[in-house]
Amino acid sequence: MILAIRHQLTASGKDVIFHHVRGHQDENQRFSELDKEAQYNVLCNEYATQAVSDNDETELPYIGSKVMIAIRGEWITSHIDQRVSDALTGPAMKKYVLERFKWDEERFNCANWNAIEQARRGFSKKDNILISKLLFDWINSGHQKAKLDQEKGCPCCGAEEETLEHIFQCANKQMCKAR
Ligand SMILES: [Zn+2]
Repeated sequence: MILAIRHQLTASGKDVIFHHVRGHQDENQRFSELDKEAQYNVLCNEYATQAVSDNDETELPYIGSKVMIAIRGEWITSHIDQRVSDALTGPAMKKYVLERFKWDEERFNCANWNAIEQARRGFSKKDNILISKLLFDWINSGHQKAKLDQEKGCPCCGAEEETLEHIFQCANKQMCKAR
């Protein structure tokens, strides 16, 4: 985008001087009362909003841009590594979650995935593996062991099945310590 703007500036052959204009000034003041720069800013916002709602098809990169990447018809202009990673792993992850928890699309979209991602960002890889195990019930509990024909009871209190919930609720001293 910046390269495209530079290209347009060079191509215009005009000297352009930048200065900061506070955005959205029309929220507190009438458009007609704003100075010229603030009015241009408001109009540019309207054009930008319009362009976003009109642009549901892939267009060529802006003139002057270098290599650009599009994912499923959408040009990616920021956080490229994250967006590529999401595009590669997102659909499979979503499919897994829908099947794993027997969720429908609406329920899936209720989860604040961005907040989960941000919260997990501060943890080490090792901690994040543990968090994934807890989120998806992959902990090596009796419940999981039963799938491999192993003992499913709680090794600490002898409860019939050591589920993830039980690991958190078991009152046994040893289990409390392990938690
Ligand atoms: Zn127990």
